[in-house]
Amino acid sequence: MLEIENKDRFGKVIADSLSKIEQTVTDAQTKKRWINAIAKAAAEIEQNGVFMTWQNEDHSLLIWSQRSNNIYTANGVCQCRAFEQGAPCFHRAAARLVRLYMELETAPAPVGEAREIPYLRNTKEPITVEKYGPVRLPIYN
Ligand SMILES: [Zn+2]
Repeated sequence: MLEIENKDRFGKVIADSLSKIEQTVTDAQTKKRWINAIAKAAAEIEQNGVFMTWQNEDHSLLIWSQRSNNIYTANGVCQCRAFEQGAPCFHRAAARLVRLYMELETAPAPVGEAREIPYLRNTKEPITVEKYGPVRLPIYN
């Protein structure tokens, strides 16, 4: 069973994933599919988290589909039909969202590294903001 305790933080993970798709996927059709996959993943996690299990050892998400009665595991690959056809699927989107969320929950970003973004440390105000390439990175004490 998967339970998202910090909805706020999870919301930021979703927002960040959407903006990443926006910035990195150039094909309009693929972009639309990924955005749909992320939206569906967010809804499924919210409503059917009870049918999902996060496996920390291999960073995969087990998803029991009540509709097909199959169990999918996703961590970049998936066993569903969409994946077979090379299309984005919500399983993979969900696995990614949960992985990023778990990383935020368990490990703060290494200081000075522009990894996943600023809100890793949202408990303090940044003292300065530095620019690393295109990324504005707040610096904390
Ligand atoms: Zn899938």
